Amino acid sequence: MTEIPASVLEVHRRLKEAGFKAYLVGGCVRDRVLGKQPKDFDLATSARPEEVQRVFKKVIPTGIQHGTVTVIASGVHVEVTTFRTEGDYVDGRRPEKVEFHSDVEADLSRRDFTINAMAEDPITGERVDPFGGEADLKRHLVRCVRDPLERFGEDGLRCLRAVRFATVLAFDIEPATEAAIAPRLPVFRKVAMERVRDELLKIIVSPHVARGLELLTRVGLTREIFGFEQLDAAAIARTPPQVELRLAVLFRSAGECQVDRLKLPSAQTQRVRELFARRPPAERDDVTLRRWLSEVGLDLAGDLCRLDAAELDLGRFEKAPLSTKDLALDGAEIMKTLQTSPGPVVGKASRFLLDQVLQRPELNTPQELRALLLNWRP
Ligand code: ATP
Ligand code: MG
Repeated sequence: MTEIPASVLEVHRRLKEAGFKAYLVGGCVRDRVLGKQPKDFDLATSARPEEVQRVFKKVIPTGIQHGTVTVIASGVHVEVTTFRTEGDYVDGRRPEKVEFHSDVEADLSRRDFTINAMAEDPITGERVDPFGGEADLKRHLVRCVRDPLERFGEDGLRCLRAVRFATVLAFDIEPATEAAIAPRLPVFRKVAMERVRDELLKIIVSPHVARGLELLTRVGLTREIFGFEQLDAAAIARTPPQVELRLAVLFRSAGECQVDRLKLPSAQTQRVRELFARRPPAERDDVTLRRWLSEVGLDLAGDLCRLDAAELDLGRFEKAPLSTKDLALDGAEIMKTLQTSPGPVVGKASRFLLDQVLQRPELNTPQELRALLLNWRP
């Protein structure tokens, strides 16, 4: 069972004592149902922002016009948001004004996916789940709350968030939800790159990045975000889960460095550019290496070697014949073919055969190897 911080419980208790409704909502409820420790805990309440301010002495008006204040309880910051829905969406961007409500269901109905649209009473454990979020968690499905075409039309970022949650949780996107992404790509185009980037980077550093990139491409988002579609998802997945390293491999595998589009902090952009453009030297003698290190520095050099390793993909040789033990002919069969008895020639013959199959692995069949032996002069 996951633990709820004492500060969150205290804020919840005081809101209830003051006569308001209060629930854990969103990602923390999802994570708790999954048995994962949430990163942060969001509380939603029927109390209006001014009422929250009255209940607690210390509050920070974080996003007060959207109903969010930060309460400081026992020195810890806890975000409290008034139950709300969003006014009309203009142009697929976030709406300017919000409407406050006294029921949690209204608040849940504005959320993006069923798995993110649950509330929980942290004391009684009572759960409010009007859209079947728990069932979708069990079925490993990312499904829009209500009509997907409408929801993606309100906020184009949700298209990318669907892929983000499917990636991070290793879930599928429910078919109607997935089918609604392509028709809403024009709305996605209007979303600020800063919001896109934050979601994208969660996909990029995920252990399931290969699945994420495959989904992104399937729904048309790879092209929207990067301007290309061909990339080596397996190479990216082999790269250590660090933003700059994985982006560099992504752009290398696409053959073009489109990092500027992502509007990353300039130091990060610069790093990706360098990782994209440079390679370790072919020669590995000390003099060459010292000159290289003096040029690029130890830190960048280390990352460039890591990228080299990721791109090498040694894993694909796992099934290839790599030692004499892997040959399709064993010692006895070699002797039989050569009509000889045990002696140094047998070892010599198997080393010859190994060298042949290292050059052409498809030759590793008894017939081919026998033919090679019959033409071989020891
Ligand atoms: P994480 O653990 O990765 O932070 P999260 O579920 O907390 O996941 P956030 O992006 O922090 O995700 O959003 C918090 C909650 O707010 C979500 O669970 C969802 O209910 C709601 N939400 C966030 N962004 C949107 C959006 N664009 N449209 C609708 N609801 C949203
Ligand atoms: Mg969150």
